[in-house]
Amino acid sequence: MKVVLLSGGGGGARFARGLADTLPAGDLTIVGNVGDDLEILGVHVSPDLDSLLYTLAGLIDDERGWGRAGETWNALASAGSWGGDDWFRLGDLDIGLHLVRTELLRADVPLSEVTARLVEKTGLSSRILPATNDRLRTHVHTTAGEFPFQEWFVRRAHEDDVDDVRYEGADDARPAPGVLQALVDAGAILIAPSNPYLSIGPILAVSEIRRALESRRARCVAVSPLVGGKAVSGPLDRMLSRMAGGTSPAHVTDCYLGLIDALVIDEADAPAEADIQLAVTRTLMDDRDAARRLAERTLEVACG
Ligand code: GDP
Repeated sequence: MKVVLLSGGGGGARFARGLADTLPAGDLTIVGNVGDDLEILGVHVSPDLDSLLYTLAGLIDDERGWGRAGETWNALASAGSWGGDDWFRLGDLDIGLHLVRTELLRADVPLSEVTARLVEKTGLSSRILPATNDRLRTHVHTTAGEFPFQEWFVRRAHEDDVDDVRYEGADDARPAPGVLQALVDAGAILIAPSNPYLSIGPILAVSEIRRALESRRARCVAVSPLVGGKAVSGPLDRMLSRMAGGTSPAHVTDCYLGLIDALVIDEADAPAEADIQLAVTRTLMDDRDAARRLAERTLEVACG
């Protein structure tokens, strides 16, 4: 069965690995967020696409949750010593990938094609597609002002509370080649346990992707990124409390109104009743086996 996963780069990437461990080779297409992308020190960085690539290829630093295992930081330290930006952490191994991507983008190779070539180099059988090849950037409106996503998330350590999120460029963004066809061909569409505002929101802000989900034939199942009403990592619980009024499963399903048929939630979050089908299981992916079990359970729910 062909499966499409909409995903960010943290919880999303670990869930993607669980799916890849479960599904037959070639059945998984991942549509990744590009709202976090940035240009810094002359290179184009796609943090979520890279986390997906590194995680699936076994190159990720599992403990840190981003970047490459065995990383060193000499180039960044040198850049900093010459007065360059060093607040966005780029390791030496990581920079090698960014150099290759940036060179190809400058030669007008689209991001989807660049990503396909990188995936091919790893020998992976899953496809990773950027949601769009067009420029789409997440901005946050906070109590301290409006910031481009990484300025707030990394440079300001996401300390300011968020009132609103804006996806610059979304109105003109077209789905990357292959995205719409994958959604039409899918036997199941899944939404990863990723941040609905920061990771899935930018993907759904591409209107043709949202419309494809609204008119889906396959079932669409999301996995909640909350465990016991708390984010496993990152600012989601604070964001949901402030922007949606709470951190229950209903507050998560409200982010995906009309787009999902079921939500997989953790045992710690099970409510008495709900408007939508809730499937209860253990959702904490503390190791690769736990991610595979969560993927299997989610696929069962997607198959009805
Ligand atoms: P980002 O691109 O790095 O921000 O990563 P994602 O948006 O893909 O993932 C961040 C979200 O994943 C956070 O809201 C976490 O609560 C959630 N998350 C991380 N690990 C787990 C896990 O093991 N289980 C569940 N259910 N959610 C998780």
